[in-house]
Amino acid sequence: MTDTDYPEFANPMARPRYTGLPTFMRAPWEEDLSQVDIGMVGVPFDGGVTNRPGSRHGPREVRNQSSLLRMINQLTSVAPHSLCRVADIGDAWVPSPFELTQSHAAIEAHFKRIVAAGVVPLSIGGDHSVSLPILRAVAQQQPVAMVHIDAHCDTGDDYMGSKFHHGAPFSRAVEEGLLDPHKVVQIGIRGPVNDPDVWRFSHESGMRVMYMDEFYRLGVDEVIRIAREVAGSGPVYVSFDIDSLDPAFAPGTGTPEIGGLSTLEAQLLIRGLEGLDLIGADLVEVAPAFDPSGNTAMAGANLMFELLCVLATAWHRRHAATT
Ligand code: MN
Ligand code: MN
Repeated sequence: MTDTDYPEFANPMARPRYTGLPTFMRAPWEEDLSQVDIGMVGVPFDGGVTNRPGSRHGPREVRNQSSLLRMINQLTSVAPHSLCRVADIGDAWVPSPFELTQSHAAIEAHFKRIVAAGVVPLSIGGDHSVSLPILRAVAQQQPVAMVHIDAHCDTGDDYMGSKFHHGAPFSRAVEEGLLDPHKVVQIGIRGPVNDPDVWRFSHESGMRVMYMDEFYRLGVDEVIRIAREVAGSGPVYVSFDIDSLDPAFAPGTGTPEIGGLSTLEAQLLIRGLEGLDLIGADLVEVAPAFDPSGNTAMAGANLMFELLCVLATAWHRRHAATT
């Protein structure tokens, strides 16, 4: 194939989707961070999992499934790759993957380099423990707000000798001054527990916990209104655990819980964040080995695209305001 045959194929994202290298969304691979505004980054680490591992394979499979995506969000008209420079900036390198806190330190250092270069991170885990080192990078200046979509609050404490597993990143983030708990909303919470007060940290610290039955009764528009009200006008981080989706849509994850979000509800939720000052996002817990169909990674890739769209408009708004 040459550009002479098909000049419109000069852009890799416009080429037939079965061709080329499977970077995230077929965006350019770029390791020079000075050439990037939003960096899509893999975090292939699942050393913080309490039960079923496998999300270390998430980034590669989401890259593969993300070849299905195109350039424009038909429903919102957002064309993220036209608003700013979006690239696949590779994976966070974890040199000591059998040491949990050392691994988190390496991920933190990687994201501090990304943030120091002025790049907005859109990351794909990995298990949810990686959100803590990412927040240590993106919330260096001040505690941030967070929209957290998950079947679990992930505000636990010590489990079998560690406080840094994937069920506890957000209690640590509050303790470390990275999150303002009064500006945190947790959406989609459900499932059986061993301790009725398992998420007491969320409630006692002032987070807005939206259990799934409340979500169902209120409907997605009212949930969006509440989420926006809680998050406020300051910097907002988004953390999306794929297990927030019902296992009918996303069985490929370590801790599935029935009675969850549909993929459409998740898309609408993310689109509803348009206008917030979004400074970064992650999508975690895609464990491809539990889903031979590939649907979980496909859902993850599409939700990553929705996250990219709202991150790109937020980046563009900030940029326009300063020039
Ligand atoms: Mn989680
Ligand atoms: Mn979860």
